[in-house]
Amino acid sequence: MPNASVPEPLPEEQEVLRLREIIAHNSDWLWEVDSQGRYTFCSEHSRQMLGYAPSEVLGKTPFDFMPAEEAARVGAIFAGIVAEQRPFAGLINRNLRADGRLVVLETSGVPLFDERGSLIGYRGIDRDVTPAIGPLDRREVQLEALYAAASVALGLVDRQGILVNVNHALGQLLGGDATQLVGQPLLMPQLDLAQCLAELELGRTVADRELDWRERTYLLSIGAVRDLDQQILGMTLAFSDITEQRLMREALAQSNAQLAEANARLQALASEDFLTGLPNRRRFDEALLQEKARARREGRPLSLLMVDVDHFKVFNDHYGHQAGDECLRRIAVLLGQSLQRPGDQVCRYGGEEFAVILPDTDVHGARSVARDLCREVFDAHLEHLASPLQRVTLSIGSASHDPDRPDNSVALGALLRVADLALYRAKQGGRNRLVQGGQEEPAAPH
Ligand code: GH3
Ligand code: MG
Ligand code: MG
Repeated sequence: MPNASVPEPLPEEQEVLRLREIIAHNSDWLWEVDSQGRYTFCSEHSRQMLGYAPSEVLGKTPFDFMPAEEAARVGAIFAGIVAEQRPFAGLINRNLRADGRLVVLETSGVPLFDERGSLIGYRGIDRDVTPAIGPLDRREVQLEALYAAASVALGLVDRQGILVNVNHALGQLLGGDATQLVGQPLLMPQLDLAQCLAELELGRTVADRELDWRERTYLLSIGAVRDLDQQILGMTLAFSDITEQRLMREALAQSNAQLAEANARLQALASEDFLTGLPNRRRFDEALLQEKARARREGRPLSLLMVDVDHFKVFNDHYGHQAGDECLRRIAVLLGQSLQRPGDQVCRYGGEEFAVILPDTDVHGARSVARDLCREVFDAHLEHLASPLQRVTLSIGSASHDPDRPDNSVALGALLRVADLALYRAKQGGRNRLVQGGQEEPAAPH
């Protein structure tokens, strides 16, 4: 006979008891939350999972058991799920147990609706998926530590360009708190994330790019995050600060430009005569070679004048070396002024000797130019009391190459020697005159 004071449970009550047993001894934690995310039901297993009794859990939200950054990250994801009022599964989240240890839970849930179809909460389960090995050996812990401490700004965006994860460095770069940035769109005017996603969808890689942001320069690398079916879930972003490299690169380019400029100046100095500023002997040798080659190539005439100041030794003796220098400078100016055509070049050959290259100039042209030079200096009346004419004068020897007049043409290779010889003869002939490659005639108009 059954005891009348302890009635047999009814079948429905037996069913409820059985379900309670199952819930209590399930290795998963079962829960329900209301529309505000507050726990309204909590199975006994919260003790194992979180180290808290159900009574300590009820009324709290799942986010109260997560570190702040994690709460922000998961909160953003969960907000999306709630907005769509959809079931979810396998949501990995990290929680702090009552003893301070981290526990990784995998959460799944289904939405609950009232009879009018309004969402009133979620019901679900949590499974402990914390890897069993010691903390520093855990990949999750390692990656988290590296991620948080990385000086490279790292982040993860979903397909819509919403930040799903932001490390400390990226938080600083974007000028905000990493946890608050989660769930926000990544707004950088120079960065078209939709375009990047389109590239990745086409199976292409997104090329690294330099990006200026708030007075710094970053190298941005973008990669795809794919699920097992290779579908793109989102993108990883890595910003490396390359401002210093950019500044160094710019400084290098600047000093290279300065170096090139200095080299050009040095080059000019190396081919310039210090006293008169005219092209020097070195430059003359180069120029004569060039002009000879051109005359040969184009079959054009070429003349050369060797110019020497008369009685200059006694000028120095009489007026002093510095006055001699000044006189040479003035002669250089007069010679330069006297030349008419842009191709004509006067150089300081050495000492008180000058050389004039006259491209495309035949024997007549050379005579005319040489006479002008002599006259220019003569007419300048540079006082030279120790000279018979009491002024500075020039002697000039010339040589002309002229392919059109083969009988009266000096071979290109003999120009310098012939002009030199003519100058010697001009000196012997009494100075203040021009001698042209063999002929002798007075030069100065007096
Ligand atoms: P000639 O009429 O035969 O040319 O006689 P000269 O005295 O001009 O010729 P010489 O070759 O005997 O002497 C050239 C002088 O030119 C010697 C030197 O004192 C002077 N001279 C050469 N270079 C310079 C210079 O750079 N500055 C000064 N002040 N004098 C120079
Ligand atoms: Mg001389
Ligand atoms: Mg002389």
